Amino acid sequence: MTQLDAPTAPTEADPLPDHARIAIVGAGFSGLALGMRLLEEGMYDFVVLERARDVGGTWRDNTYPGCACDVPSHLYSFSFAPNPDWSRTYSEQPEIYEYIRRTAAERGVDSYVRFGHEVQGSRWDEDAQHWHIATSSGELTANYLVSAMGPLSAPAWPEVEGLDSFEGKIFHSAEWDHEHDLNGERVGVIGTGASAIQFVPEIQPQVGRLHVYQRTPPWILPRPDRATTRLERRAYRRFPWLQKLTRTLVYWRQELLMVPGLVYRPQIMKAAEVASRWHLRRHVRDEKLREELTPAYRLGCKRILISDEWYPALASDNVEVVHSGIEEVRAHSIVTADGTEREIDTIILGTGFRATDMVGSEHIYGRDGRSLRETWQGSPQAHLGTTVAGFPNLFLLVGPNLGPGHTSVVFYTESQVRYLLETLKALEQREATSFEVRKDVQDAYNADLQERMRKTVWTTGGCNSWYLDETGKNTTLWPGFSWELRLRTRSFDETEHTLQRGGSRDRAAAVA
Ligand code: NAP
Repeated sequence: MTQLDAPTAPTEADPLPDHARIAIVGAGFSGLALGMRLLEEGMYDFVVLERARDVGGTWRDNTYPGCACDVPSHLYSFSFAPNPDWSRTYSEQPEIYEYIRRTAAERGVDSYVRFGHEVQGSRWDEDAQHWHIATSSGELTANYLVSAMGPLSAPAWPEVEGLDSFEGKIFHSAEWDHEHDLNGERVGVIGTGASAIQFVPEIQPQVGRLHVYQRTPPWILPRPDRATTRLERRAYRRFPWLQKLTRTLVYWRQELLMVPGLVYRPQIMKAAEVASRWHLRRHVRDEKLREELTPAYRLGCKRILISDEWYPALASDNVEVVHSGIEEVRAHSIVTADGTEREIDTIILGTGFRATDMVGSEHIYGRDGRSLRETWQGSPQAHLGTTVAGFPNLFLLVGPNLGPGHTSVVFYTESQVRYLLETLKALEQREATSFEVRKDVQDAYNADLQERMRKTVWTTGGCNSWYLDETGKNTTLWPGFSWELRLRTRSFDETEHTLQRGGSRDRAAAVA
């Protein structure tokens, strides 16, 4: 494959190259996974463009109290860089962040990252057969563009009347203000999703009064978290195969316990609802509160949450769960639809991310000059969640319908990275300068996905979730077992693509 003969790792001080074979946008889990695999393959002609000053993506940005992963650590890590030293079965943010930074440094990918380079626009140049990329700190061209910006990188602020006029402190959970002292304050938390259920129990003992504004109650299951023992850690260090085995067992547990109910027979989820109700009854004595905390949709329709602290925190004396919708925010208070006005010092938004917007899609312009966002019209589509018709030599990592509802996103990312490497090899063998998925292939793939989506709990479960885009389609999750994706992405299928040699001026050279 194409490579530099004598790889001299770049340094942060180096100027941005005029040209790179591959430009990766984003130094989070997926961008770094690709960078590390490129290095393993001896492909050194790439650059990672990162807007921030450090690697880590969502695990760098989300520093709220209690931030942790709800996927077991042995699975939520790179398969090629196991960490025998996880201190818990479900690790917390500082440890995951440290793992990402350490792994990036050990494997040398961090020196390929250009920090403070926010991509402002990427345009495909058909004649030159490359991407033209403008960043906040310079421009470059690249044969291949890889968008690895992650669906959880743009915090979503809710559309609530008067939010701008609030004169107290306000911040989003993904932009936690650690300087701000919550001690004794009257705090309003908006949202009861994956982030809120982690930070609310942490701040509850500290604040004076806590009003939790709940629009839809989540289903909560117990969190089987525990500290790992020294013996375990030593065993994993000594016998790496043991950790591999643990990873494999965790992987299959997630697949077999979750996918049948989520994708094929949502009724199966009733059994888990019984467990969740029992969990609620155990921690909340007040019958009225229990009723208000019981979801009215099938478990799994929204992300299933795990916590042992959420219900006890809500049942505490200084906490009020507010069920009436927010009508308006005033200078120092929040008013709900039932007319109640509550004085608030600080508002914390646990309102999630703009996941279905596909961050950055407005800045990527394809062959006909239209952006990805314009092309998608509010409903993202790709082939295998990775390539898009009209956008030659573009790869999306964690693209449309590649979010996991039940397992580690890293498994999906690594499947895509393998596919990307296979594609590059195939193109090189065929001496193609560009490739593009056929529109009919992409359409058929997406029609099939949406057909499979019809019976899933995300469609039939009776809820409205962020998995659905503005047209009501689920363009976020993969409707099947994750190994199906691994199988489907194991090789590049030339018949599904148009390949080209040279620019549009010698279109006759198109290979297929
Ligand atoms: P989220 O799950 O999307 O939850 C957002 C919450 O805000 C929901 O309760 C939502 O209510 C509420 N909300 C949104 N707009 C509102 C409004 N205008 N008024 C009132 N309530 C409003 O967001 P998140 O908790 O930040 O989590 C997002 C994703 O991040 C998760 O699904 C997960 O993929 C990831 N995450 C993962 C972990 C992990 O452990 N791996 C931890 C944190 C986050 P409705 O339910 O009614 O919409």
